[in-house]
Amino acid sequence: MDEKRKSMLKSLPKIDEIIGLLEKQGIYEKASREIVLEVCRSVVQKMRDDILTAPDKKLPAVTTDSAGAARYVLNQINNLYAYRLKRLVNATGVILHTNLGRAPLCHEALERILEVGRGYSNLEFNLERGERGLRYDHVSRLLCALTGAEDALIVNNNAAAVLLVLNTLAQHKEAIVSRGELIEIGGEFRIPDVMTKSNSILREVGTTNRTRLSDYEKAISPDTGVILKVHTSNYRIVGFTEEAELTRLVALGKQHGIPVFDDLGSGCLVNLSDHGLQHEPTVREVLATDVDVVSFSGDKLLGGPQAGIIVGKKDIVQKIKKNPLNRALRIDKFTLAALEATLMHYLTPEKAASSLRALKALTEGQGEVRKRARKLMNKLNKANIPHLTYEIREDVAAAGGGSLPTQDIPTVVLAVRHKKLSANRMEAMLRKTPVPVIVRVNENEILIDLRTVSEDEFGFIEDGLRQISDQ
Ligand SMILES: *Cc1c(COP(=O)(O)O)cnc(C)c1O
Repeated sequence: MDEKRKSMLKSLPKIDEIIGLLEKQGIYEKASREIVLEVCRSVVQKMRDDILTAPDKKLPAVTTDSAGAARYVLNQINNLYAYRLKRLVNATGVILHTNLGRAPLCHEALERILEVGRGYSNLEFNLERGERGLRYDHVSRLLCALTGAEDALIVNNNAAAVLLVLNTLAQHKEAIVSRGELIEIGGEFRIPDVMTKSNSILREVGTTNRTRLSDYEKAISPDTGVILKVHTSNYRIVGFTEEAELTRLVALGKQHGIPVFDDLGSGCLVNLSDHGLQHEPTVREVLATDVDVVSFSGDKLLGGPQAGIIVGKKDIVQKIKKNPLNRALRIDKFTLAALEATLMHYLTPEKAASSLRALKALTEGQGEVRKRARKLMNKLNKANIPHLTYEIREDVAAAGGGSLPTQDIPTVVLAVRHKKLSANRMEAMLRKTPVPVIVRVNENEILIDLRTVSEDEFGFIEDGLRQISDQ
């Protein structure tokens, strides 16, 4: 090591010195002694690493004084107070964006979370009988009314639901599934892996593009635990294809006394074709085939909190409830409170789209989206932000979240250009504002998709664009 580095290492501040400076600034108002000490140690360690690794040119810039270290520690402690999980504006046009928290919650769901979280609740207490109750009972009545199911159960998410159902029905037994349905949902969630973790044995049948009823039939043996059908949520096979209809699988299952489980993925409770979208079988329609059990997500097309909803025949749902794994996958009171409020909107399905934002974004007419785009442009024009120009244009949005993959949703975007800054630069800057705005980039402009932006978010967009033009 060179002499310069050696002497810098020697001049590193003592922890006590840094703490002495920080105490004068009232550091213990912000964090305990233990925490301050720990942060000091890591800061000095970082200074040491910087001295050892900085290239010669950068070496003079490495701090070694105690005042600099104290400032750094204070900064780190202040940073611990900054919320990392924050709201943002989704201007991407991807309605159920898994990275952006999927479905926003409705007003009532938020109110219920506050109400139930504020005090104690009857989460697992039966108020009529004054004895222990089940947490699922609060929403199972609603779910049965909305889907025609005999019984219902909610777990942490749909991946957990699939794991739990398979483990209950096919532990150490075979689960028969079509090769065309062995999908990856995203984030490394692959159906075959979940099946392995559930301790069920994957019995693939058919081919990627064609699987017939007879393929399932031939695979049935005394080792069969379940027939599994998986919604190929995020892709479609087109062309020369064939799949066994659910009704026929159900008949086959009945004939052999084998339960049939349909993982619907996005579980929809309203008729999307009423809104000019592709028909997606509703949960009620699926259950009408007499399938034994169905699972779907709470935060995809349903537009509620993250949850895995399991509905089906009473005896099977009861069995699933009793599985010890269920305890590890159970949902919390906030999710239940939000789900209950979300589901209530579906009692009048024609009104649900006006209250549930994801459903609204999916079904709203392009005309309404255009009106919003004009309003935003007027607002921004009035704001008179230098260097920016705007243009309204038609484009296509997407459902996202592995829902309706082939559905193009006509939308309207506001294209924004800056006289000097590149679109990538603008995109990055909008990501770093107090309420970040996430946009699409198209060559030298950014696109703000009004399908996923509501009017009460316009202020955040204006603030974000102002910060860009200040640069
Ligand atoms: C999305 C999806 C899942 C996973 O659901 P999460 O709620 O994200 O856990 C499982 N199966 C299918 C078919 C899906 O589309």
